[in-house]
Amino acid sequence: MTPELGLDFKSMPKIELHAHLSGSISRQCLHEIWEMKKAARKTDLEDPLLVMPPGRHDYDLKTFFPLFSSYIYNLIDDVSSLEHSTKSVIRDFAHDGVVYLELRTTPRAMPTAGLDKAGYVDTVLRAIEDARADTPTLHTRLILSIDRRNSLDEAGEAVALAKLFRDRGVVAVDLCGDPTKGDVSLFTPVIEEARAAGLKITIHFAEAEASASEAELNTIMSWMPDRLGHVIHVSEAIKRQIAERGGIGLELCLSCNVHAKMIVGSFEAHHFGGWWRVDGPIVVPCTDDVGIFGSPLSNEWRLIQHHFRLQREEILGLAKKGIGAIFAGDGERERLRRLMW
Ligand SMILES: [Zn+2]
Repeated sequence: MTPELGLDFKSMPKIELHAHLSGSISRQCLHEIWEMKKAARKTDLEDPLLVMPPGRHDYDLKTFFPLFSSYIYNLIDDVSSLEHSTKSVIRDFAHDGVVYLELRTTPRAMPTAGLDKAGYVDTVLRAIEDARADTPTLHTRLILSIDRRNSLDEAGEAVALAKLFRDRGVVAVDLCGDPTKGDVSLFTPVIEEARAAGLKITIHFAEAEASASEAELNTIMSWMPDRLGHVIHVSEAIKRQIAERGGIGLELCLSCNVHAKMIVGSFEAHHFGGWWRVDGPIVVPCTDDVGIFGSPLSNEWRLIQHHFRLQREEILGLAKKGIGAIFAGDGERERLRRLMW
């Protein structure tokens, strides 16, 4: 509860639009999965609570990506752990007062479990469908991510899967992954294909200096993305382009950017402060990887209020404005308008 505003950020109905499935799994959930596998002699991995001690949130670009490739992806490597972790992530968001969630994931084959990429997406969607019974107020959609290290064929496969599973709640395509890797211009044809098929587009944008050349940012802007994630290392010219493109969603992830030292300075220095009043873009605070950075969405709103001194009506107005940036249809927008304060 924030007494001076009479606001409880946990019970305030919230929208989360930038949450990676694997990075959103709580350490407790990873530990439970590890215990089950250990008991069944199905893993040699170390206890996740030792690999990622509960108080540690200072992962930077050098330690963040290896955590997934060398640990989390090896622990979540079959149908039951994928289902269990997806449901756990949804439950955690629901308990934090999230009423609309767009989860994102890079389709990943799990050969030892006999799962190809389509089987992976199907399993995640089934877990989302099952979770609905336990947390009916939270509606979840799925975004499929292209990894910057993907070949054009692999990226095309992600788009094909997004098209295949559209009627089960896949709404968009994302481009993510290690910002020091890859040349995004390779993906222009598949992004255009996704857009032509009616899928929405969201892109990790200027997340690090390595992924913020004028050439890269201009290429991405030419794709006419519906939303941009992070938006850190941007020139004044790019800022103007964003501001002029009416209604573009900006997924801003404060704790992630501060803990991972992606910005200079602390919360007060975050570019949220420069964007939230700008007409045109729709600013949506997001968690990115709550399992890694440890700050649930309610806490992101608390931080925003604390560091930028938003008033009660400004907080509620900004939260509600986020409805304009969701990728679901009119029915869902209407539900959120009724539900949100
Ligand atoms: Zn992200």
